[in-house]
Amino acid sequence: MVTWISERASNIVPSASVSIADKIRQMKRQGLDIIELQTGDPDFATPEHIVQAASEAVRQGYTHYVASRGIPELREAIAEKLWKENRIKAEPETEIMVTPGAVHAVFAAVMATVNPGDEVIIPDPGWVAYPGCVALAGGTVTRIPGYKKSLAPDIDQLQKAITPKTKLLILNYPSNPTGMTLTSDQLKQIAEIAIRHNLLVLADEIYEKILYDGREHHSLASLEGMPERTITINGFSKTYAMTGWRIGYACAGARIIDQMLKVQQYSVTCANAFVQKAAVAALRGPQECVTEMVEEYDRRRQAITNGLNRIKGISCRQPEGTFYVFADISQLGLSSVAAAEFLLDKARVGVVPGSAYGPSGEGYMRMSFANSMENIERALSQIEEAGGANGGNN
Ligand code: PMP
Repeated sequence: MVTWISERASNIVPSASVSIADKIRQMKRQGLDIIELQTGDPDFATPEHIVQAASEAVRQGYTHYVASRGIPELREAIAEKLWKENRIKAEPETEIMVTPGAVHAVFAAVMATVNPGDEVIIPDPGWVAYPGCVALAGGTVTRIPGYKKSLAPDIDQLQKAITPKTKLLILNYPSNPTGMTLTSDQLKQIAEIAIRHNLLVLADEIYEKILYDGREHHSLASLEGMPERTITINGFSKTYAMTGWRIGYACAGARIIDQMLKVQQYSVTCANAFVQKAAVAALRGPQECVTEMVEEYDRRRQAITNGLNRIKGISCRQPEGTFYVFADISQLGLSSVAAAEFLLDKARVGVVPGSAYGPSGEGYMRMSFANSMENIERALSQIEEAGGANGGNN
């Protein structure tokens, strides 16, 4: 029978987070009060000076198509930021592309580099868009497990996963969903491996600013031998509470950006014009707003990890960065999907089952603390009252 649906689309399996999200929507329609700790969306308003810049830009006529690469002013601001903060040298004319959200930068990067049959190594557990983008490009996903003990990538496992067909390695640090980041020593080891095996690396650094306990972020593309083989991806959604504005960017060698540009031109044309002006204000304006948000995330991080560790059957590490806690629920004897459903039904708390992020995520759940302290405390007591995540058997 002729089907109108492409194999490319139908072969993509919706993530386990989709069914939980559907269920949450349904319950909310019924008027139930659900504490939504499943979303990775800051609860803060976008800082006022950024909103102001967007509204001025609309009035100034930034309401038309702009260059696919992004407006020169924003590319220059990004290049300055990358040099000052990340020690990445990027030519604004040729080595930076502004995208509608960092996710589109990931999509364009994968579409521009991965051929059918190429192997792409992704972290396990890792953010759900990576396997989706690789599948759309016809590539093959290889997951590097080994997160179980440290929640950080295992260098030996990485070495073992490399074959002659491996083209791209995707890294995300600080990591969604584990909240863990990479040390500069780990980055050096990874860089050495990438150079030895001639791998291209996509470094998704969107959570770079959300780090705790004085940790510093280091960019892979700042290491020797890496600028030419690294596609650095970043955005404004997490740092400046701008998820709905849809703005991000990629930085890579001109040869790669030229190809990504074609993907962008034929899919979205360009990122929104007035949002680009707002992004300039975000980068060039005061940064105290970021520090304040991170300080508040830190308070919530302590509250949620301490609270979860007090609940029998649940244990978690303090995340090093991001606003996610990846809690171990393996003691409960439930699959992570069953545990997430139980918490939704009995505690009225939305979480993402760890298995949504890959097989190594089984036995975990991801909870976001980009939510008010009041909601976090309410969620913790409702989970405790429901009897942890095991149906009240402990
Ligand atoms: N990378 C990671 C690791 C993410 O978690 C997200 C959002 N959840 C993104 C990229 C995409 O962010 P955006 O498209 O909103 O810029």
